[in-house]
Parts: sequence; structure tokens; C-alpha cells
Amino acid sequence: MRLIAANWKMHKTVSETEEYIRAFLRLVEHPESREILICPPFTSLYVAGKLLEGSGVKLGAQNCHHEEKGAFTGEVSIPMLKEVGCEYVIVGHSERRHLFCEDDELINRKLVACLEEGIRPILCVGEKLEDREAGMTFKVIETQIKLALSGIEKYTDSLDIAYEPVWAIGTGVLATPEDAVSVHRFIKELLKKLNPENGGKTRILYGGSVKPTNAGEFMKHSEVEGFLVGGASLEPETFAKIVYSF
Ligand code: PEP
Repeated sequence: MRLIAANWKMHKTVSETEEYIRAFLRLVEHPESREILICPPFTSLYVAGKLLEGSGVKLGAQNCHHEEKGAFTGEVSIPMLKEVGCEYVIVGHSERRHLFCEDDELINRKLVACLEEGIRPILCVGEKLEDREAGMTFKVIETQIKLALSGIEKYTDSLDIAYEPVWAIGTGVLATPEDAVSVHRFIKELLKKLNPENGGKTRILYGGSVKPTNAGEFMKHSEVEGFLVGGASLEPETFAKIVYSF
């Protein structure tokens, strides 16, 4: 089943979250044929979890710490996320990598912790514009995935991967569906090599300036097994249109 995920980033207070979710739930009456996920900021998770209970729409976090507890000021652990109802967590988003200096080793530790704690990670990978221009897209993606999955290659069916070309995130510049499909195919083949038994089961999502006007074109391709949506997920009506774009 395809996964359509909203990454709100650092947007929406608790009251704005309540308003959004009440409106969104009125728009998604039959979500059975697709999996829908909302990832609000930490402060909104509890209230969002309460409002989403029984709706079929799932809750996720945008980040986590890999330790269970301890002296890590400002961090939030996976058990804390699970207790407020999170079933998913985004790991290694390009903003975490580039603005908060998260490296592949830290991302690997977070993925290991997610698998141990039983929360489903969405691993984000993507090349920068200079990588693409230097013909390095596949090499960059391969390195990010191999390092992120180091030691946990056998468990690739317990996570999803979002391919998000960095130059297409929040910029309005869109990769073509063909660009995305070729990278999605490459990721699938790589996962099958890393995990011959069930590497093919990992869903590969696309992310980067997805909107209601372009979502349908991507979804014509079976290789696009879902979306991670930033800016266009902030209005319930717009996000619902993306959810029903296929
Ligand atoms: C994202 O934050 O993962 C993202 C894809 O953002 P946007 O849709 O705004 O490009």
C-alpha cells in the first residue's frame, strides 16, 4: 500500500494542529486504500495522537534520539514518541543532515534504535545539486543508503526510504517523474543486493515540491510508492488532494 506522509517541519502550534486535524479528518473518509501519515512538531504530537485515534490516519515524528533516556538536553527518545502514539519517525531528513550536521553514522544509530524499539523509520536520502551536476547522483544515494543501513541490512522490510533530491525540497523546482523513477529503481536494486531475501519490500517514496498539480504524474509510475510532502501538507485541503491524487 502506498504511504502519503506529511512533514510539517517547524509549523503549527497546538491549537493550529487541532484545527488542521479536525478539518483533515472530514476530508479523508475512506483512507483504506492508502496509508496516511502526519508528522507534526514534537509539541503537537500528543494532541494530534488523541485526535487521530481510531481514524486510520497515522502519527509520526520528524526526528528522534537514539538513546532511550539520559542527559541529552533538548532531545526526545523513541519510547516517548511511542507513548504519544507515533508509529513512524523520519530519520536523516536533508534539513537534519545539512542544518543540524547529522552524519551517516548518527543516522545509522537512529535507525538501529528505531528497529530495536519497534517504530518504523522513514530514511531520507538525496543528492545535492552539485552532486547531480557532477553525475554523482547514484553514487551519493548508494553511499548514504549503505552507511545508514550498515549492520541492519537484513531488516530493510521494516523501514521505508524517501528519495528527496535536495535541490527539489522547498524550492518549487521539481524533479521529473522520470528522474525520480530512475533513482527509485536504482534504490530497489541496491536494496535487493543488500537484502536478497526481502529487500524488494521496502517502499520508496518521493519527496520534493510535491503538489496536487504534479502528484498524479508521479503516481502513474508504480515505482513511486508514496510521497513525503512538506510545504503542500500544511493546508488540509491541499494535502487531501495529494492523498487522493491516484
Ligand atoms: C520535505 O520536507 O520532506 C519536503 C519534501 O518538502 P517540500 O514538499 O516542501 O519540498
